[in-house]
Amino acid sequence: PLVLGIETSCDETGVGIVRGGTLLADAVASSLEEHARFGGVVPEVASRAHLEAMIPSLDRACETAGVRLADVDAISVTSGPGLAGALLVGVAAAKALALGLGKPLYGVNHLAAHVAVDTLEHGPLPEPCVSLLVSGGHSSLLLVEDVTDTVDPLGSTMDDAAGEAFDKVARLLGLPFPGGPYVDREAKAGDSAYVRFPRGLTGQRDLARHRFDFSFSGLKTAVARWVETRERAGEPVPVADVAASFQEAVCDVLTRKAVDACRSRGVDDLLIGGGVAANSRLRAMAQERCDTAGIRLRVPRPKLCTDNGAMVAALGAQMLARGRTASRLDLVADSSLPVTTIAG
Ligand code: ATP
Ligand code: MG
Ligand code: FE
Repeated sequence: PLVLGIETSCDETGVGIVRGGTLLADAVASSLEEHARFGGVVPEVASRAHLEAMIPSLDRACETAGVRLADVDAISVTSGPGLAGALLVGVAAAKALALGLGKPLYGVNHLAAHVAVDTLEHGPLPEPCVSLLVSGGHSSLLLVEDVTDTVDPLGSTMDDAAGEAFDKVARLLGLPFPGGPYVDREAKAGDSAYVRFPRGLTGQRDLARHRFDFSFSGLKTAVARWVETRERAGEPVPVADVAASFQEAVCDVLTRKAVDACRSRGVDDLLIGGGVAANSRLRAMAQERCDTAGIRLRVPRPKLCTDNGAMVAALGAQMLARGRTASRLDLVADSSLPVTTIAG
């Protein structure tokens, strides 16, 4: 079956088309440049950009896939979580398509889609598996029993998301927005042992209560203090070394807790998803630690880690394949859809 997925939860207008587990097209238009001068995504600007990009993106995806809209068997759309006005554009477009084509509509959870996208690269999901979901707005450890139905949160961030920490530290270091990819690039030339930054919630006492939770705001503050001290002393800030040291701290905590979660649940498969999963150090460190622990690791290629329509199509295809009930046409976007609610 042919499934078309629409993603508009943040600044990417994504339209993906899959046939079964095969990716046919993944058209992504981003309004990022329009937000850069504000140092963050501006909701109104994002919504307008989605409106403008929707039809061209649908056309482009169909052309790349070599299909017509009339050939599509189901429409899938991110119904949350995300920016309310941005989500509305995608949901409205998806409803119109479903109604016009007379095909089922699946409103799905963006976070579960970050997990489901891996099926397009590595085949059927090993279920249950542990998923480390690290993105601009979320950082969680999840026990995925059925990606279309049952996802149990094991832990999440108490403050900043991992991607948010990357973006804030990038700004401190004078790198462009969004900073994750720039920190990654700078860090390649840096010494990751230059500064030993704090690993949040990894002490004995914290582990007792927050074994699978994260905290990155203390780390961000530590980096800020360190940079300030240098600047006040009139000394240059070694950007690459600080970037590498910060990145090492984040990746250390993420991978350590992910492996621990697998062990504690007796699960042999770890899947990493979300924008931060594109990070080269996170991928390498996770591979090393999983190899040591005898855990199979799955991480989609970087382009599938950040927001796109293919991930939504992938989850829609799973919904269809597993006979899940389609959404009604009065589906509403929910900006704070919990990770446990997979069909929006
Ligand atoms: P959410 O999925 O929580 O709703 P989002 O959709 O905005 O948030 P994604 O597109 O999944 O987030 O991820 C974007 C985040 O990923 C940004 O914070 C960005 O800096 C970060 N990111 C992207 N590439 C990298 C990288 N190579 N290294 C570190 N962080 C990265
Ligand atoms: Mg984005
Ligand atoms: Fe995302």
